[in-house]
Amino acid sequence: MLTFIEHEDYYKHKMPQILESPRRLKIIKKAIKETGLLDSPNVKMASPEAVKEKDLYAIHTEQLVDTVKHGSMVGVTAITGDTITNEFTFLAGLRAVGGAKLAAEIAIKQPNSVAYALARPPGHHATRSNAMGFCFFNNGAFAANYLTKVQKIKRIAIIDIDNHYGNGMADLFYDRSDVLTLSLHADPKFSFPFQGRTTEIGEREGEGFNVCVPLPMEIGDTEYLTAFDRVIIPVVREYKPEVIFVSTGYDGLLGDPYGYLGQSVLGFQVIMERISNLAKEVCEGKIVMTLEGGYKFNELGQAFLASVSPLIPDYEFSKEAESNLSSSGSKGQLKNTLDELKNILKPYWRID
Ligand SMILES: [Zn+2]
Repeated sequence: MLTFIEHEDYYKHKMPQILESPRRLKIIKKAIKETGLLDSPNVKMASPEAVKEKDLYAIHTEQLVDTVKHGSMVGVTAITGDTITNEFTFLAGLRAVGGAKLAAEIAIKQPNSVAYALARPPGHHATRSNAMGFCFFNNGAFAANYLTKVQKIKRIAIIDIDNHYGNGMADLFYDRSDVLTLSLHADPKFSFPFQGRTTEIGEREGEGFNVCVPLPMEIGDTEYLTAFDRVIIPVVREYKPEVIFVSTGYDGLLGDPYGYLGQSVLGFQVIMERISNLAKEVCEGKIVMTLEGGYKFNELGQAFLASVSPLIPDYEFSKEAESNLSSSGSKGQLKNTLDELKNILKPYWRID
């Protein structure tokens, strides 16, 4: 069963001149409607509560919560150049965190349960004390923390497939081993947030539990999947999480105005096939998805449909996705990165 989580508050937060906008959700909603996904007995919708302001202190500083709250009271306030409140941002933020929390509650309830919080603002760049990169509060991190602390889940793996490094997730769980954070992202030398190098592996209790796979620019699907198969799958398999989170960004699409990975629409189908199979193998198919980036408006709806198709038994996006993937041929640079990563992670994980 796939549950989409949505709420009208998610459309109210807007930032001037920035493509992280309500239009993204409108495109996704239209794709769901036009495809008739909700007619499937395997798909449903759910509506979340907002979390309370004080709940956020579980992962964020009071100062950050106050900054976003007061920014919203004033109206338009730039917390950073690209993270700007309007009068609804605080409300939408509390509801977006609530959406991820509900997704987590649904996913852990029974086997083969997947819940996707179609919430904005997105969250994966928000650290304990800083809003940045269109993200105010870290929706997915809140939900993962909630599962470990309240629902007593012992191991969660968060796989970040957004074009950009999930630095907020890494920041919040950097010294913890109960939440394994893994991110594939465009080379941090050139791409926001300019972190996520192979050597950023976590510290203290969390040493070895932050896995960064920086990828060459315009890498394409085939090489992306090589990195996925060689690093993400074996590490998650060995870790044996009780649930898998996916920070789901579509900004790796070729031509995305904020992304650089050169992926195709079909690439997202194959990535989610991999993740779905992995989840079935290690955690009874339990998956929590949160919406992160994705700004190429003319392909966002298709990439979204491709990504959810492996999760809906009676919906097929493409029969021949694997044989129609993009490839950059940038194998040399990728091989060097993966060999380097294998050495760095050797004390912690078995990677061939
Ligand atoms: Zn992104």
